[in-house]
Amino acid sequence: MTLPTHAQIVVIGGGIIGSSTAYHLARDHKADVVLLEQGKLTSGSTWHAAGLVGQLRSSASITRVLKYSVDLYKGLAAETGLETGWKMTGCLRLATNEDRWTEYKRLATTARSFGMEMHLISPEEVKRMWPLMETSDLVGASWLPTDGQASPSDITQSLAKGARMHGAKIFEGVRVLGFGMEGNRITSVRTTGGEIACEKVVNCAGQWARQVGAMAGIEVPLQAVRHQYIVTEKIDGLSPETATIRDPDRRTYFKEEVGGLVMGGYEPNPQPLSTGDIPNDWQFHLFEDDYDHFEQHLVQAMARVPALESVGVKQMINGPESFTPDGNFILGPAPECVNMFVGAGFNAFGIASGGGAGWVLADWVVNGEAPLDLWVVDIRRFSAMHRDRQWVSDRTCEAYGKHYTIGFPHEEYTSGRPRIVSPLYERLKAHRAVFGSKLGWERPNWFAPEGVEPRDIYSMGRQNWFAHVGAEHRHVREAVGLFDQSSFAKYEVTGRDAARALDHVCANDVTRAPGRLTYTQLLNSRGGIEADLTVARLAEDRFYVVTGTGFRTHDLAWIAEHLPQGDVAIRDITEDWGTLSLMGPRSRDVLAQVTDADVSDAAFPFGHVREIVIAGATVRALRVTYVGELGWELHVPLAATGAIFDALMAAGADHDIRPIGYRALESLRLEKGYRAWSSDITPNDTPFEAGLGWAVKMRRNADFIGRTALEAVQGQPLRKRLAGFTLDDPAAVLVGRETILRNGQAVGYLTSGGYGYTVGKSIGYGYVRNEGGVSDDFLASGDYELVVANERFPARIVLAPLYDPENLKVKA
Ligand SMILES: Cc1cc2nc3c(=O)[nH]c(=O)nc-3n(C[C@H](O)[C@H](O)[C@H](O)COP(=O)(O)OP(=O)(O)OC[C@H]3O[C@@H](n4cnc5c(N)ncnc54)[C@H](O)[C@@H]3O)c2cc1C
Repeated sequence: MTLPTHAQIVVIGGGIIGSSTAYHLARDHKADVVLLEQGKLTSGSTWHAAGLVGQLRSSASITRVLKYSVDLYKGLAAETGLETGWKMTGCLRLATNEDRWTEYKRLATTARSFGMEMHLISPEEVKRMWPLMETSDLVGASWLPTDGQASPSDITQSLAKGARMHGAKIFEGVRVLGFGMEGNRITSVRTTGGEIACEKVVNCAGQWARQVGAMAGIEVPLQAVRHQYIVTEKIDGLSPETATIRDPDRRTYFKEEVGGLVMGGYEPNPQPLSTGDIPNDWQFHLFEDDYDHFEQHLVQAMARVPALESVGVKQMINGPESFTPDGNFILGPAPECVNMFVGAGFNAFGIASGGGAGWVLADWVVNGEAPLDLWVVDIRRFSAMHRDRQWVSDRTCEAYGKHYTIGFPHEEYTSGRPRIVSPLYERLKAHRAVFGSKLGWERPNWFAPEGVEPRDIYSMGRQNWFAHVGAEHRHVREAVGLFDQSSFAKYEVTGRDAARALDHVCANDVTRAPGRLTYTQLLNSRGGIEADLTVARLAEDRFYVVTGTGFRTHDLAWIAEHLPQGDVAIRDITEDWGTLSLMGPRSRDVLAQVTDADVSDAAFPFGHVREIVIAGATVRALRVTYVGELGWELHVPLAATGAIFDALMAAGADHDIRPIGYRALESLRLEKGYRAWSSDITPNDTPFEAGLGWAVKMRRNADFIGRTALEAVQGQPLRKRLAGFTLDDPAAVLVGRETILRNGQAVGYLTSGGYGYTVGKSIGYGYVRNEGGVSDDFLASGDYELVVANERFPARIVLAPLYDPENLKVKA
C-alpha cells in the first residue's frame, strides 16, 4: 500500500495508545486518519507488558478513563472478531501494616465516591481466595472485583483492526523522520515512505515520543526505565481465574498466566536508560535478564507465595517503559506547537489506560478541548524546566521508586531540589522554613519554631506541623503575615485590542477602568472552568494577569490559543516579578509605614491595583485576598524582592509580623470558602455549579467563550452544586474524595479537605448531586455525613463562608 499524500490526522506509533487513538478517531469522529508505525504493531513497549488492568486512581476523571478501558476490552472482540484476552479476575491489594491499612480505607472510600465497588477483607478471606499465599503477616486486603487482566498484543491488534474497519489506514514499517513546519504549525509529516500533508499530528510514539516531539520543537518529559518481570512454569493449584495481586509493602505484583505466575515489581533503585535518544531500530527489543537486580523482588515474592521456591522460571522479560516525573501519563495539546497532540509516558499502566486514553485523546484532537477534567495528565502541567533531561530522569526515578510506597498526604518529592528559588530563599530558611516544591519552585510550606526540627514527618493522622501551621493561621487572622508567592505565574496582555480580546476569553468583566482588578474564570465551550485567575487593568491597552504557580503553561496556552485576531499579544513575565502577600488586620498599618502612597480604604479600595513605591522600588500593589483578611499582593521587581521583604519585616516588627507558609494559606482559604482550581473547580464544573455565577457577566451583552452553554442552562435546576461541610470529630482527617452522604445516600465526594483553625473544625468542599436538581431547600433539608477512611461521621453543611471578617463572624 502506498502512503497517501494527505490525511486529516496522522497518528505516530502503533502501540496500544496509537491504535486506540486511531480507533476512536475513526469510530467516533469519522476522521480521515493515517497511523504510522516504524516497525510492527505492538513492537515498542506494548508486546511485552504484563497485562494487569487496574482502574482506581485518585482522580475521578482518570478512574473514568480506566473504567472505560475495561468496558471497551470486554466488548471489542464482538465488534472486531479479535479477542483481547480480557479476564475479570479482580484484584487484591495486600496490607501488612496500619498505615497501609489506613491508605486502603481511604482508597475504599474513594472507590465508593467514584461509584466503584471495593471491599476490605480479612487475611482469612484472602487465604480462602488465594490458598497459595502466605497471609500470616497481613492486616487485611482490599478487593476490587471488577479489575482484571488482558493480553496487550491482542487488544492492540483488535483495536487496529477496529480502526481499519472504521476507515483508518495503518502502515507498518514507516518511520517518521521529521515535519514540514510553518512557524509553530506542522504542515506535513516526512517519513521513510514519503511526505503526508496533514492538519493534525498525534504523537503516540511511546519511549520515542520525546525525540518525535523534539522534531517539532516540543518537549515530552518522559524517561525510559528498564522494567522486569518473570513468568514461571505451571504451579499446582493455581486457577486461571486467580485474582491479580498487588503487594506494595513487598513492592511486587502477580498475575496468573497459563497456569504459572507473572511476577514483577517496582524497586527503589530503578535503572533508567540514557537521557539521550532511543535507537530507532529497537523493535521487539528486550534487555539481558538481570537477576542481580531482580533478586530483591524474588526474595519478597517467595516469602509471599512459597510455591515460587520450587517452580522454574520460564522466561524473564526486561523491557523498556516510559515513566514521568509525577507518575501520571502525558496527554493533550503540546503548548509549543499548535497542532501536535501527545499520548505517551504511561508509567506501566498503558494497557489499563489504553482504551480510555484513546477515547479522550481522540475527542481532544478533534474538538480542541478535553472532554473531561484531564488536568492531572495534561501535558501543560510541565514547563520549560522539564527540558532538563537529567532533572526529568532523577525525578522520574524517584517517582518510580515510590510507585508502591505508602501515599502519605502532603508528601513532597525530594530529588532535583532546590531547582528554582525566589530571592527570599535564604531569608526564609533563616526563619526555619520547611519548603515544598511546585513546578520547580521552592515554596515555604510552614515555619518550624525554635526547638522544632524543620522537616515534615509524614503520617496518616495529624502530622508534625499541624499545631505550628495553626499558629501561623491564627497570626494572619489576628495580626499580620507575609507570604512569599513569587512563584505565581504572571502574564502581560497588551495591544489596542487587548480589552476586547480578554473580554472574549474571560467570563467576568475585565474591561473595567484602568486601576481595577477582576477575579475571573476562563470557560470552555461547555461552560466548564478551564482557569481561574486575576486580571488587573494597568492601562487602556495593558493588562496584568496572575494565576497559580502550577498552571503557568496551561493558562498561558489556553489564553494564547483563544485570543481572537487583532492587535493583542501575551507575554509570560513570571520571572520579572516577585510577589509578597501582606495579609491580616494589621497589614494596612505595616504598608502605610513603608510607602508614601495613601493606602486608606477610600484611596485604595478592594479590587484595585495601584503603583506604589516601597524601598525605592515601584511596586504593583493589588488589593485582593485569598485568606479572607485585609491585605495586598505586592508584585515587586524581582531584584527588589529582598529589600522590600526586609522593609516590610522591619516596619512590621511593632505589629508582630511574621512569614507564613502555604499550608496555613490553604487552611485560611478553606474557612473563607475560596475555590481552588484543579480540585474544587475544574473543566467538569460550571461557575453556576461552583457558586461562582456572580463572577460571570451574564447580564452584560458581551459574548465570551462558554456563554452559549451557560445560557442554555441558566435558570434551570442545577444537577450538582458545590457546598461546604464541617466535622466536629477531631479524629477525622480530611484529605479529599471522602464520600458525602445525604440521608444515608451517596450524593458526591469532597474535592478539598483540610482543617480550619479559627473555626476549630475539619472543613471539606464537594459537589452535592441530584438528578432532579439541587435547590437551596434540597441542600439545607438533608442530614449529612462524610465517609472518612471508610467510617461515617456526622457532618454539617455550610452554604456561606465559615469565616467572614466583614461581619467579624465565625459560623460553624
Ligand atoms: C515489563 C513491563 C510490564 C508492563 N506491565 C504492564 C501491565 O501489567 N499493565 C499495564 O497497563 N501496563 C504495563 N506495562 C506498560 C505498557 O507496556 C505501556 O504503558 C504501553 O505499552 C505503552 O504503549 P504505547 O503505545 O505508549 O507505547 P509503545 O507500545 O512503545 O508504542 C509506541 C510505538 O511508536 C513507534 N514509533 C516510535 N517512533 C516512531 C517513528 N519515528 N515513526 C513511526 N513509529 C514510531 C514504536 O515503534 C512503537 O511501536 C508494562 C511495561 C513493561 C516494560
